[in-house]
Amino acid sequence: MKVFKFGGASINTADRIVNTAGILRQHSGEKILVIISAMGKTTNALEKVVDAFFDGRKEDALQLFDQVKEAHLKILKYLITVNWQKAEGQLKDFFTEVEWLLHDKPVRGYDYYYDQVVCSGELMSTSLVSIYLNETGQKNKWVDVRDLIRTDDNFRDATIDWDITTEKIKATIEPLFDEYDMVITQGFIGSTDENESTTLGREGSDFSAAIFANILNATDQTIWKDVEGVMNADPKAFPTAQVIPALNYREVVEMAYYGAQVIHPKTIKPLENKNIPLHVRCFLDPQLPGTVISNKPVYGLPPIIVLKKDQVLMVLSSKDFSFVEEKPISQLHDMFASIKIRPNLSQNGAVSLVCCLDDQAEKVERLAIAASAIFDVQLEKGLTLLTVRHYNEATIATLTKDRVILLEQKTTETIQVLMR
Ligand code: ASP
Ligand code: MG
Repeated sequence: MKVFKFGGASINTADRIVNTAGILRQHSGEKILVIISAMGKTTNALEKVVDAFFDGRKEDALQLFDQVKEAHLKILKYLITVNWQKAEGQLKDFFTEVEWLLHDKPVRGYDYYYDQVVCSGELMSTSLVSIYLNETGQKNKWVDVRDLIRTDDNFRDATIDWDITTEKIKATIEPLFDEYDMVITQGFIGSTDENESTTLGREGSDFSAAIFANILNATDQTIWKDVEGVMNADPKAFPTAQVIPALNYREVVEMAYYGAQVIHPKTIKPLENKNIPLHVRCFLDPQLPGTVISNKPVYGLPPIIVLKKDQVLMVLSSKDFSFVEEKPISQLHDMFASIKIRPNLSQNGAVSLVCCLDDQAEKVERLAIAASAIFDVQLEKGLTLLTVRHYNEATIATLTKDRVILLEQKTTETIQVLMR
């Protein structure tokens, strides 16, 4: 069997849903587990609902949620004819779950409410698509993934309980494939042992798909996106960016680590562990070959460029000219961990050390305050971090032209340059 994951852009209009159905039709007769994200920008819209609710702006929250409801009902009316009552009934059940909560006052933490509300995006989208496919002759079974993916209660960034999840997926999904060729479910969400909904972190559906692929021993996984495949740079910033036809797992993990927004970083491990190839393909043009990611070595890769804007350089100097040794360094690492911020680059000197961080303003400020107990702290904001894998001098020269370089690190494979 195969695993397909369709991102939110592949179903953000009725036409796109029809297009997605067309791709699935081309694979009829194969056993496919299909994971579908929330429609378009629904997750962002639901985040606003949670913000309003948690701020005590109940009417705003309900009104914002009405917009999400309308968007789904509109697509439903357009696409579903025979089974619209059933479809509307299902959507309304999800609406009610959320509204019931919105009518209360928040008594628990933000992250808990986030997960209870935001999970509705994938429940609604998958229901709609599943009913549409059934109605148009593509028989499939819809499954609530919260009955399968068991997590802890670290809301918004929940950790999978692999043992229970494996047991549940095998017991539920394997028999379904005796009866159906297609099983449709959600990515990104799960639930605790107390039946509270959880989420796995933004863009987590790629990871969910990999969990299923691993547990069900899929022959391969495909992520259907609105780009031609994995590219060597962001085509919006670099018009000459090109598709890379083949990559290996290691390279993709490196790219994700340095901030390339290709695939959710947790996706690779479950696939690598079972040597399951991952295809990245374009739902707008399914004829294109896209990118295949596997364990095969790949030679002659072009320079792979990752640009991270909004970087902060933090310079930490010892207060009394004493050497920056193990103790202050380990204290600093404890601060990183407790504030949950990770330096993108760091370098030690004799009496100072420097690190480059994403400008998550509130966290950076907390870190600066905490670090000022042991160091003199200076900050410079508004910087760009350039990472190039498989670099060559010409590429670096072009990319750093007219820039002031504040920090540079290189290995044989990778160069990182922090610039003003
Ligand atoms: N819908 C979620 C998000 O937009 C999860 C996903 O699409 O992977 O982050
Ligand atoms: Mg997405």
